[in-house]
Amino acid sequence: MKILVLNCGSSSLKYQVFDMDTNEVLAKGLVERIGIEGSNLKHTPSGKDSVKFEQPMENHDVAIKLVMDCLVNPEYGVIKSVDEIGGVGHRVVHGGKYFSDSVVVNEEVKKIIKACFDLAPLHNPANLMGIEACEKIMPGTPQVAVFDTAFHQSMPDKAFMYALPYEYYEKLEVRKYGFHGTSHKYVTQRALAMLGNKEDSKIITCHLGNGSSLAAVKNGKVIDTTMGLTPLEGLVMGTRCGDIDPAIIPYVMNKENLTAQEIDTVMNKKSGILAISGISSDFRDVEDAMNKGNDRARLALDMFRYKVAKYIGEYYIALGGCDAIVFTAGIGENSAAHREAICKYCECLGLKIDAEKNSVRGKEIDFATEDSKIRAFVIPTNEELMIAKDTKDLLDK
Ligand code: AMP
Repeated sequence: MKILVLNCGSSSLKYQVFDMDTNEVLAKGLVERIGIEGSNLKHTPSGKDSVKFEQPMENHDVAIKLVMDCLVNPEYGVIKSVDEIGGVGHRVVHGGKYFSDSVVVNEEVKKIIKACFDLAPLHNPANLMGIEACEKIMPGTPQVAVFDTAFHQSMPDKAFMYALPYEYYEKLEVRKYGFHGTSHKYVTQRALAMLGNKEDSKIITCHLGNGSSLAAVKNGKVIDTTMGLTPLEGLVMGTRCGDIDPAIIPYVMNKENLTAQEIDTVMNKKSGILAISGISSDFRDVEDAMNKGNDRARLALDMFRYKVAKYIGEYYIALGGCDAIVFTAGIGENSAAHREAICKYCECLGLKIDAEKNSVRGKEIDFATEDSKIRAFVIPTNEELMIAKDTKDLLDK
């Protein structure tokens, strides 16, 4: 079976086509500037050169139609007919409290995705647009929604509730949801396999990228995670502040005369590593600056690493121990220096790492020493494959 995986943003879409007999990627691509001047599509069939098109695409319907044309093109296509696609897996950011797993899309599911627009105003409308465009272009092909929040729905109430007036939870659905769920799920499944599918497993998954989050996973189920109602909570990130004293918000709003929208932009786009270093939101740039002696770059990275380590400590308690810490995403997969610094804090828990094994980049490896009490894994994430697998599993049912 072939599965198309789609990740639609408001003006962009990413796609991959998988052959589920081999889990191989047949083609992938990116459409940018949908509805804006300069719309373009880059399509890459596996093992071949990319092809690029620039042509007006006023909406997602037109963009997805063009993707389909590419996929069946005799020269650079990878299938003979669109009918070969057995299902489409859509990344949907927010499933609220309604979805604890992926689902086949029907009218009711679309209604709920719409009901979650307020919780993810930048993402859910675009995700739904992608689903509706596929329904038009490929009528009869099953569409599956895979939610970033779903894997975290197993959290107990003591973990997901905020100690705010109870009606905010009842009326406004204010609670912790968590994000990057598809990535946490993928690396959890791999980590469980690496642990020999041990019973009573306790894993801490660290998705460290431009946006970062940790999850505490007991017996394959999330019991806590660092992101909250929105992706702003938790770790220090590229441009997000993570946890702060909430009283800072009204204080700064009053002093600087900022609106709610403006302070929201400050916390999401102008904070984090970017703000502290004054250099960049890209961890590589900040690391380069630190290595050249820039003290604010050093501070930014110290804050990031310290916060990750503190949450590992918190989750060690929440889980009642830890079998493995997993590092994934851009920083987690590639940066030996960040992994080493974070693991250094965890020596008190009995974690010992092998510096040579830790020097790998982007490869699955256990880099703890043999006598370490906790395993330390690098597991490259693969959200697209996870979406494709969930889609296939649902369609097989
Ligand atoms: P992601 O959001 O998962 O794509 O991760 C993007 C982040 O990973 C960026 O901040 C990159 O600077 C960071 N990154 C990628 N490679 C490295 C590396 N070798 N060392 C440090 N950071 C890296």
